[in-house]
Amino acid sequence: MISKIKQISLGNWMLIGMILGFLVGIILNFYVTNPFIKDIILIDNVFYLGGTGFIKLMKMLVVPLVFFSIVVGVASISDIRKIGSIGGRTIGIYLITTALAVTIALIIASVIKPGVGLNMVGLAQANVTSNVTVTDTILNMIPDNPFNSLANGDMLPVIIFGLLVGIILATLRDETNVVNDFFTQGNTVMMEMTRIVMKFAPIGIFCLMAKTFASLGFDGLFPLAKYIGCVLLGLAIQAFIVYPSLLVFFTRLNPIKFFKKFVSVMFFAFSSSTSNATIPLNLETLSELGVSREISSFTIPLGATINMDGTAIMQGCAVMFAAQAYGIDLGTTALLTVIFTAVMASVGTAGVPSVGLITLNMVFGSVGLPVDAIGIIMGIDHLLDMFRTAVNVTGDAICTIIVSFKNKSIDLDIFNGRKAPGETWDDITRF
Ligand code: ASP
Repeated sequence: MISKIKQISLGNWMLIGMILGFLVGIILNFYVTNPFIKDIILIDNVFYLGGTGFIKLMKMLVVPLVFFSIVVGVASISDIRKIGSIGGRTIGIYLITTALAVTIALIIASVIKPGVGLNMVGLAQANVTSNVTVTDTILNMIPDNPFNSLANGDMLPVIIFGLLVGIILATLRDETNVVNDFFTQGNTVMMEMTRIVMKFAPIGIFCLMAKTFASLGFDGLFPLAKYIGCVLLGLAIQAFIVYPSLLVFFTRLNPIKFFKKFVSVMFFAFSSSTSNATIPLNLETLSELGVSREISSFTIPLGATINMDGTAIMQGCAVMFAAQAYGIDLGTTALLTVIFTAVMASVGTAGVPSVGLITLNMVFGSVGLPVDAIGIIMGIDHLLDMFRTAVNVTGDAICTIIVSFKNKSIDLDIFNGRKAPGETWDDITRF
């Protein structure tokens, strides 16, 4: 029995944690009426500690892991011209999938019409502000002071600086052996720390799920059901139709094999609502799928920042929802503006909880929609944030696999389960 329990993989433990957390949360919400036990002891203490503690552990890893692994990943690319082609392909796919995502959302919401019949009079003013412009987005990529960017966890400047250090190490090679070794060993330390932290993932996921559903229950889901339905439908289409189709079209790899391994990453993203904190787990899982770190160490942190397809879907639906609720007819130019702004909003912000709601302000502003509607969406946004973050990280992983495939940096035997990561064919044939 004990040996059977020991054989359960980490991914399956996470799945167990997620299901148990959901059940415990719902039971607490429905059946435990004592507020002291329910709210004070469990939600605000035990679950909060377990859940937030785990998110903090993951966040602790992000900046050093991303920085070391980008430098090492780029420095290890022997042909410097490859960096340009990898970067170009990755950014291209990221932008196209996001534009596709908003378009899908706009189509769904214009068919389902979530905002029609809603009474918008007397709504509270939404208290969201945003001052992100396209020019700012570009300028903000260049760090004023890379150490400040590292300290603040500003992903894009960290990525740019890491890229530059990596390119220079790759160019100078023998002249910079000591610095190269420092980064390589620093990367090993961070990977080992990630492996250790990851062992706590099932407990963290259990606590996060239990806390969410103990406070939300099923009731939190009923208002705005049509809007929620639109967003969830869009997310499902993106995750289970668009991504698998792209994977098959570009690589002919089996999407089921991908999802089997990747589902635990989706669960973690779902329960933590942050793509950034999911970076370590995403990198780890892609290695288990045979993707070379040379590619993923660059594309995953970049994706966590610039690729948010799930967020773009929510924004597309929210725009239509508000336009319909106010009886505003958005023409083709306005819709194209929404697509462009939503893609830019996705590029310019880090993958942290609820950031999509902040940038929604910028998308609304681009076509002159009143921001009041954001006020009602806000109430249920936490739930949608969970789902869309799961889609955001899936998009990053799918693009990474496509780019790795095109650059011949994925071990297809590992992907197809014929070989374990790190194993050589000699190891297999020996037995
Ligand atoms: N929470 C999302 C993420 O981290 C961003 C958002 O849509 O708010 O990817």
